[in-house]
Amino acid sequence: MKKISIVGAGRVGETTAQILAEEEFCREIALFDVREDVPEGIALDILQTAPFFEFDCVIQGSNDPRILKDSELVIVTAGIPRKPGMSRADVLETNTRIIDEVTDHVMAHAPNAMMLLVSNPVDALTYRVAQRTGWDRSRVFGQAGVLDASRMASFIAQETGFSALDITTMVLGGHGDTMVPVSRFCTINGIPISYFLSDERIEAINERTRKGGAEILALRKSSSAYDAPGAAVAAMVDAIVNNRRRVLPCVALLEGEYGEADIAMGVPCILGEKGVESVVELNLNDRERADFDKSASAVRAEIERVRDIH
Ligand code: NAD
Repeated sequence: MKKISIVGAGRVGETTAQILAEEEFCREIALFDVREDVPEGIALDILQTAPFFEFDCVIQGSNDPRILKDSELVIVTAGIPRKPGMSRADVLETNTRIIDEVTDHVMAHAPNAMMLLVSNPVDALTYRVAQRTGWDRSRVFGQAGVLDASRMASFIAQETGFSALDITTMVLGGHGDTMVPVSRFCTINGIPISYFLSDERIEAINERTRKGGAEILALRKSSSAYDAPGAAVAAMVDAIVNNRRRVLPCVALLEGEYGEADIAMGVPCILGEKGVESVVELNLNDRERADFDKSASAVRAEIERVRDIH
């Protein structure tokens, strides 16, 4: 890929940019932010790590949206993050207005790009961007489940003492307290986690996963998480730029899959060079199905709130 832009040169945006540069996922990285001079400063700072990490891609920052010109992928991290005690939904109104503005910039300057949403509440904002652009769902998707699944994997690694490299996890649903960690599809090198962990321990891990973002926010106090979020976004970018066709949980527009339509939420997708190629429909059992439906209702309520914002 030639050019990737990141809108929002905040904590998640900067972390993502650093990883994209280190991994040389593209030849040009553009950072756009409304904070005066900040994107230029961050771009320069990252550029100066080039001799250590041995990359030579171009990194530029600007307050001028024309910097987005001809991007093939735009990662959107603009917005206000949660403060301790706030839910992702509490930032909905402000972030919807910000995301509308950003969407218009992308449509004007990078009309052929894919958009990867990170800003919260990510499910409702992915839906908003899909509505505003009218683009095919393959080009508009969000990051949530890759992060939530990595949180769950790290908790399983801590609990079992096994290598995180062997742990595969799956988290579906909205990126909030109703998310659905699906332990039946979680394995340690192909062996179901139930072989190693009791039902009580699995339920405790599920609950910690659901509250994973809030746990970090409460501990960090002045910032929500950004190291793992940046790495999660970079994993999705890797799947796209290298056309890996990975099966990753993404926030995707549903068109009848899982019995849902006119909604964006976390489901396993095949992610490759054209973005979301297709949605993978899992055969959920009754309990998983009920949890998924509850999560869909919570996302739908957020989408209804977003619809009222003009
Ligand atoms: P941050 O405050 O550090 O960065 C946000 C940046 O957006 C700021 O630099 C701000 O100036 C910029 N911005 C605001 N309005 C803008 C506009 N109109 N155009 C361009 N830039 C604009 O916040 P952060 O910690 O980087 O988090 C960013 C967003 O990502 C938040 O909404 C947060 O909740 C979300 N997030 C999502 C996930 C996820 O898994 N989906 C994980 C972590 C954070």
